[in-house]
Amino acid sequence: MSRFKSIAIDGPSGAGKSTLAKRLAKELGFHYVDTGAIYRTVALAALREGFDPSDSARVEALLPAISVTLDYDADGLQHMYLNGEDVTQAIRQNEVSAGASKVAAIPAVRAFLLDTQRSLAKSQNVIMDGRDIGTVVLPDADVKIFLTAAPEARAHRRCLELLERGQPADEAQILKEVLERDHRDANRAVAPLKQAEDAVLADTTELDFEGSFRLLRGIITHRLGGMKDE
Ligand code: C5P
Repeated sequence: MSRFKSIAIDGPSGAGKSTLAKRLAKELGFHYVDTGAIYRTVALAALREGFDPSDSARVEALLPAISVTLDYDADGLQHMYLNGEDVTQAIRQNEVSAGASKVAAIPAVRAFLLDTQRSLAKSQNVIMDGRDIGTVVLPDADVKIFLTAAPEARAHRRCLELLERGQPADEAQILKEVLERDHRDANRAVAPLKQAEDAVLADTTELDFEGSFRLLRGIITHRLGGMKDE
């Protein structure tokens, strides 16, 4: 069967999905697709209009008027564009993180972004990370991994990341935000964060980056290696 390969990595925020997926993509020669960045771009659009990102009527009405696109630079880095403006940096602000999990709970937003995500996997080998890739976006993905770690470990890593960048970090506050986002992502009515039945669970609570990388690489090569003739 000739088609492009796809690897779905889902899990809560701060489990290391994007850093691991980026490095795996490089090693495998796959395209890395960060789907969280796409939701973040919609959240930024709502915030710039002065809307509350949970206000489903206003956010839904905004969708036909905005364009959300992406491309890749020479280093394979994914750039996000809102109405043609490069917002790759702007979508990393804290306010946008919280906003993204609010717009992501709106069914019309998920429907609006579904084709964009699916079409990326039709023309190239992809490693896609998000919350519902294995369950909704790419239910036929060749490899599905549910990547998680204890909330405390995820908050601690995020704290170290901020400190390394010279930014202030309050671990207790970060843990609170991590738990709030987990709750919103896992309890929304549409496409909640949950492990696909056929996904492999990878818990990195006790692992460092190298250990996590080796674990995921092992799962992927095992799965892809066993299907060379398909
Ligand atoms: O992964 P990241 O933290 O950038 O995602 C931001 C938010 O976007 C998540 O908290 C989640 O609510 C939402 N999201 C989603 N489905 C995806 C990817 C992200 O609901 N596939």
